[in-house]
Amino acid sequence: MVHAAELIRRKRDGERLAAEELGELVLAYARGEVPDYQMAAFCMAVFFRGLDGAETFALTDAMIRSGETIGLGAAIGRKVVDKHSTGGVGDKTSLAVGPIVAACGVPFGKMSGRGLGHTGGTLDKLESIPGFRVELTTDEFVRQVRDVGLAIIGQSANLVPADKLLYGLRDVTATVDNVSLIAASIMSKKIAAGADAIVLDVKVGDGAFMKTLDEARELAQAMLELGRHAGREVACVLTDMDQPLGQAVGNALEIRETIATLRGEGPPDFTELVTAACAHLLAFSDLGLDEDGGRARAVAAVQDGSALAMYERWIAAQGGDPSEDALPSAPVVREVTAPSDGHVRAIGAVAVGMAALRLGAGRRTKDDSIDHAVGVLCLKKRGDSVAAGDPLAEVHARDETSATQACEEVRAAYELGDEPPPARPVVLETID
Ligand code: URA
Repeated sequence: MVHAAELIRRKRDGERLAAEELGELVLAYARGEVPDYQMAAFCMAVFFRGLDGAETFALTDAMIRSGETIGLGAAIGRKVVDKHSTGGVGDKTSLAVGPIVAACGVPFGKMSGRGLGHTGGTLDKLESIPGFRVELTTDEFVRQVRDVGLAIIGQSANLVPADKLLYGLRDVTATVDNVSLIAASIMSKKIAAGADAIVLDVKVGDGAFMKTLDEARELAQAMLELGRHAGREVACVLTDMDQPLGQAVGNALEIRETIATLRGEGPPDFTELVTAACAHLLAFSDLGLDEDGGRARAVAAVQDGSALAMYERWIAAQGGDPSEDALPSAPVVREVTAPSDGHVRAIGAVAVGMAALRLGAGRRTKDDSIDHAVGVLCLKKRGDSVAAGDPLAEVHARDETSATQACEEVRAAYELGDEPPPARPVVLETID
């Protein structure tokens, strides 16, 4: 019998817990033998007292043991790569990275989540494609990674069930933003899903969990250690989330931007991040490339059309219609124009994310439904010069009333000034 109250007290008082104690607590919670109120108190004790490296690993390990694990690499006899982002506004990176990496001949298998709050989820974006199935069985997932080279699906219910419970609890008890808890939550899912090498994109800034580079470095380091401890190769890129990524925020709009990027016509910041992530993944692969070689291969796959061909093959394999014309479009499209001449000094990522959410692109609670057609296109980005009356952004809305409100919110998200802001690259730092 686990003595939950005793473990809560010891953590509250700043004691280190043994791996077996943490393991018993998490597994008993996953079995329903420890109630939510005790686990919530435990998370709050961890929030204030923290976990050291060994405790974080023990927590991660127990979470993995709460469900099934997939030996993806072993099942297909190849080294499989995966990427994960801590979540941001306009972040459709995996949707472009997957086809490019797979077109280079490296299997890419990913289990993804849905969006909540101002950040969108990969599955919601994919579901704007008519017919696309995000729910495959584990066997179908493994088969598709082997036969097509690429699958992105919803997380199976049996994969790290302890995280599903814990995340839901943390979400409503103000205990999400703790480095150890975030690292354990993300890495337990990545390790259980079976990739051999993982690139982690840790977002930094207004629109991200981690507001400063120091916080992002701490999370990156914790995740690197967990991955390596579990025998996986891991690299982290710390990337800018002080403005939306690329131009498109909203599900079908982001799929269109993904297709444009695979055609070589994507926005510069998004293209740069996609290329950097591909370079790391290809350098981890069994192709024997270094990072420069990986970058060159990724660029070539876009230029020769093989990345776009892989995208079409992948979407069709999961039942979707890959043509851009099949994507839904919003009936009302309005421009937000610049009130004066100047430079874009900042674009509030949360503000744009919230405008898109209120248009219907995201959900406030996990049971809300989504309008896949609506969203925001940030036509001008930080550093761009503008003349009065130039379009800054486009709002894609279901009706006139929601369009008017979103236009006001997007206009307020743009900060214009006389001078351009200091240049800030999308990839701020790499830790490997
Ligand atoms: N994403 C996750 O999967 N878990 C967290 O705790 C935070 C972000």
